[in-house]
Amino acid sequence: SVRVRFAPSPTGPLHLGGIRTALYNYLFAKKHGGRFILRIEDTDRKRFVENSESYILETLKWCHIEPDEGVGYGGAYYPYYQSKRINIYRMYINKLLKKGDAYYAFDTDQDLDKKRKEYHHRGLTFSYNSRIRMELNNSLTLTKEQLHDKLQSCSYVVRFKIEPGETLKMHDIIRGNIIVETDHLDDKILLKSDGGATYHLANTIDDSLMKITHVIRGEEWLPSMSLHVLLYRSLGWTPPHFAHLPLILRNDGKGKISKRNADSFNFPIYPIQWKIPKTKIIIPGYRELGYFSEAFVNMLALLGWNPGVEREIFSLQELINFFSLERIKKSGVYFDIKKVNWFNKKYLNKKKEKIFAFLFEEIKTRSILCKKDYLWKVIHLTMDRIHFIHEIWEHSFYFFISPNSYEVNFFNKICHENTISQLENAKILLYNINQFTSFNLRCLFQKTKNKNQTMQLFRLALVGVLKGIDIFIIFEMIGKKESIRRIEKLIN
Ligand code: ATP
Ligand code: GLU
Repeated sequence: SVRVRFAPSPTGPLHLGGIRTALYNYLFAKKHGGRFILRIEDTDRKRFVENSESYILETLKWCHIEPDEGVGYGGAYYPYYQSKRINIYRMYINKLLKKGDAYYAFDTDQDLDKKRKEYHHRGLTFSYNSRIRMELNNSLTLTKEQLHDKLQSCSYVVRFKIEPGETLKMHDIIRGNIIVETDHLDDKILLKSDGGATYHLANTIDDSLMKITHVIRGEEWLPSMSLHVLLYRSLGWTPPHFAHLPLILRNDGKGKISKRNADSFNFPIYPIQWKIPKTKIIIPGYRELGYFSEAFVNMLALLGWNPGVEREIFSLQELINFFSLERIKKSGVYFDIKKVNWFNKKYLNKKKEKIFAFLFEEIKTRSILCKKDYLWKVIHLTMDRIHFIHEIWEHSFYFFISPNSYEVNFFNKICHENTISQLENAKILLYNINQFTSFNLRCLFQKTKNKNQTMQLFRLALVGVLKGIDIFIIFEMIGKKESIRRIEKLIN
């Protein structure tokens, strides 16, 4: 059965790219009744950032794409941290060394630099490949005894031996058939000089031992696919299926978004205190800014995947039903903040009860008494002006309280002696009207002299700023008494 994994490195907070990779893995697993596994790839201890792991777990939880197995969730293939699996990697390194598919290399940085320069000088590119490896300092040219001594006295790495002259035929679910000549590959390091495994070694061993059936990851790993396929073969394993996802790119053309260069709108959840630790600048995530996780996930799912139907709103379950790796786009994608806002707005319709609760609290803290029906009416009248629940008060306060102040420019522009007398006249008309409905008011002021100015004066009196819904509906909502009171307040 399908087993997929999300394998982030704990080197900072998850960004849009990482979380979308997790999402596609999750959707694929659920679609096929499989399992979604979380493995922490912490082989690079130098870049380790505290709290990243809890950030990853909390983000997945907020998005409702929780793993079935792995860090934080347990499982039969424990441990799910690469830092705790070093003995396993050593075992397989020994196997590769014994087979002759890997070798010790003793080159120092200086040796390599010298070689690199020498090649450059000769107009050639340096690559630690089959041809150059013989000129370097490694176990392939040593006798058993020499090797034994060298291992005692020198620091070393273990490299994978790639032989030229082979055509590798591989397949990627998104990109189709891929052909690579081994002549173009170099002997990558598998075991570092500090004894730790590299990403390539740890990743392939873990995917195999954890019985991963499909590797779904960012496109930046596509060039490593041949090395991984060769490693599987050397270790006697069948490789998993591969699907390399298009990257989410920075809008400024500076490559993919990554932890090192992400902008503040790239993060799903909570303040990223560690982003600018010295300045202690706290950047809120989408969760804190009031985005709904359903809207965020919906937006992210469509960022690089085409559902094949003419619609954009999908619940998580619908995303699972529709998902297929074959419909993932091949080229990189740009993220657009306006699109997330659009999605959030769409989801507001499903959150009316929450908007109600929020507004209810707002009026309660201001000790305003008002009927539930009235609140619902206000919500229906103003809802299409907001993208977030917390914006409701700012767009509806004038249904509950009269303006405390008037917007200065607006006030100075339209409020003077002439217009005040205009307001006085309008007040009398308002006073004499029997049924104070928006329809009647609209008819009454339809043909009034200086109509536009009168309307602006009304808005200034009722709302205080050049904002708000249809002025006649505001009149009807707040009623005759309150309307006249607000007009008198402005006149005085
Ligand atoms: P770094 O900051 O070191 O570049 P990262 O941004 O690649 O890190 P990881 O947590 O290491 O983040 O990556 C987790 C997964 O997300 C990997 O499968 C990776 O390929 C994928 N990924 C990373 N960046 C992007 C991106 N911009 N778009 C799509 N997928 C990405
Ligand atoms: N740890 C790797 C990364 O974070 C995982 C890549 C993969 O999924 O194989 O980019």
